[in-house]
Amino acid sequence: MRNLKSFEFQFSLVMLKDTILEADMLVTCDGQNSVINDAAIYVSEGLIVDIGSRKKIHEDYSAKQIIEGQNKIILPGLVNTHSHSVQTFLRGKADDYALLDWLRQVVLPGEANYTSEEVYFSSLLGFAEMIRTGTTTTNDMLTTHHSNLGIEAAVKSGIRARIGKMLMDVESGFPAIIKEETETVIETTRKQIDTYHQTQDGRIKYSLNARFLLSCSPKLMRLIVETQHDYEDLMLHTHASESQAECSEVKKMYNDSYIRALNNLNALGSETILAHGIWLDDAEFKLIQESNTRITHNPSSNCKLASGICDVLRYHELGVLVGIGTDGPPCNNNFDMFRDMRLATFLQKVKHLNEQALPASRVLKMATIDGAKAINWDKEIGSIEKGKKADMIMIDIDQVNALPLYDPISHLIYSSSGKDVTMTMVGGKILYHNGQFKTLDFDKVKTAAKKFQENWS
Ligand SMILES: [Zn+2]
Repeated sequence: MRNLKSFEFQFSLVMLKDTILEADMLVTCDGQNSVINDAAIYVSEGLIVDIGSRKKIHEDYSAKQIIEGQNKIILPGLVNTHSHSVQTFLRGKADDYALLDWLRQVVLPGEANYTSEEVYFSSLLGFAEMIRTGTTTTNDMLTTHHSNLGIEAAVKSGIRARIGKMLMDVESGFPAIIKEETETVIETTRKQIDTYHQTQDGRIKYSLNARFLLSCSPKLMRLIVETQHDYEDLMLHTHASESQAECSEVKKMYNDSYIRALNNLNALGSETILAHGIWLDDAEFKLIQESNTRITHNPSSNCKLASGICDVLRYHELGVLVGIGTDGPPCNNNFDMFRDMRLATFLQKVKHLNEQALPASRVLKMATIDGAKAINWDKEIGSIEKGKKADMIMIDIDQVNALPLYDPISHLIYSSSGKDVTMTMVGGKILYHNGQFKTLDFDKVKTAAKKFQENWS
């Protein structure tokens, strides 16, 4: 919390109002993939109370706030299953590298030198971009130092998140100042869990973010798994089997292949989500399936770092839950989930030379309800259904890229971008509407980003 007061924004909390949201088309992402035309939703106390035709909802309810939906699609807020908000100030500084050089030469030295204020504003800029482009929930990895300020930024922004500090105790060619002593890692983590886990009415859940096996000793990995068992609903989030060079270094360090090494450390299971999961042998795919481990597919990152193509179809055939993530700005270089949904379908079509591979409706599920399942949050979010949290977004279809519009799902995946988002709501609270952020002062975030840019230059 050190220094937070000096740059924290002073805002009054936006009070929750009961709200009716209207839409020409409502894409629910429920079990039946229902699409309702000329629809409305009644929201009260942060929850979806009723869904129906515009006429019926207005007959049955009156609300303090009505969000008109002419020329709009409403869909569930997108779930980004792998992000690094804190890396946002490094956007555009690490282009055209392969994974390990990218990490060792730019990203980790960049993270290591952040001040506490830079951690706060870099993360806040990341969350602002997510909110602006339709993400309502993210599974976010911060950095090692000043990480409490990254969590404070998530709290401030209003986004829903599994989030936590980056855990690493091995140098492995990285700047020495970014790693911590094993005991310090666990001590700080436990303090942060006690402070932040299941706070903000359940909107913030802590996450154990082991960076990857090259930066974590076997001792640390065992302590992380032990820590996880001491708490309810605490997920382990780590990178795994992302590039071939990384896999061969892991083999030298752990004397086993990546997924087998994680299995030997008892780090697989339904409360583990692995980012990437590209380079696996048959037995490793089986280990993922049998342990019910979750995967986050990050297509832009995989393309930009030339890491490879994740076999999403194979995971689906095995019944493995796969979400979609943007990864961080130095390897994407944005948080627009619409771009990653589109790329995810294209990559599977090309990989399998099958035009039916991962159709639009399937990839939309991955970015909503499947993503929510992958991070064990689907009872509350991921679809627009009665009783769930009111996490939803509005898309403007009065645009050149929306004509003609035969099928809303085709439009959302193949024609839309995050810039078409006009409204983002989390738990019934509007975070962004028609160009205005409601929880954060974007001018202050911009000033901080430009100052960082000048100092770096
Ligand atoms: Zn990542």
